[in-house]
Amino acid sequence: MLSKKIENALNEQMKYEYYSSYLYLAMSAFCDSQNMPGFASWMRRQSGEEMAHALKLYDFILNRDGNIKLKSIPEPPQKYTSLEKIFKQVYEHEIHVTGLINKLYELALKENDHATSVELQWFIQEQVEEERSSKDIWEKLKLAGTNSSALLILDRDLSERQV
Ligand code: MG
Repeated sequence: MLSKKIENALNEQMKYEYYSSYLYLAMSAFCDSQNMPGFASWMRRQSGEEMAHALKLYDFILNRDGNIKLKSIPEPPQKYTSLEKIFKQVYEHEIHVTGLINKLYELALKENDHATSVELQWFIQEQVEEERSSKDIWEKLKLAGTNSSALLILDRDLSERQV
């Protein structure tokens, strides 16, 4: 059984995971418009991964006999200017998400909700990966600058992402 406080916080986090999915899908469309199919595909997979995070929380809430509240998902920015700026934004967004998950974890500890704490440990570990992968790509984009050969190699490398 979930406390109302934890239930609300989990529903709120679920909305945020959906927002991340939306954000990355908008970014994927921009990458596609820039004729960068590898970047677009990487971002689309990332969008799918965020939706899976949302559904992981959805399943957890139901398994704990909680109530699902699907909230409005804010509209992501529609205009983007460069790949480098996008990946800086992704990295900063992931740092923000890490902060939200840490807060949620602290709440679960405070409420002595051990099952939620354990569930959130998965998300905490996942954030290490999310921050690292977005920062790696951002650093590579900074190195590549406006060198089109380097950008095309990076685009090809990103197209190889499987999951
Ligand atoms: Mg996520």
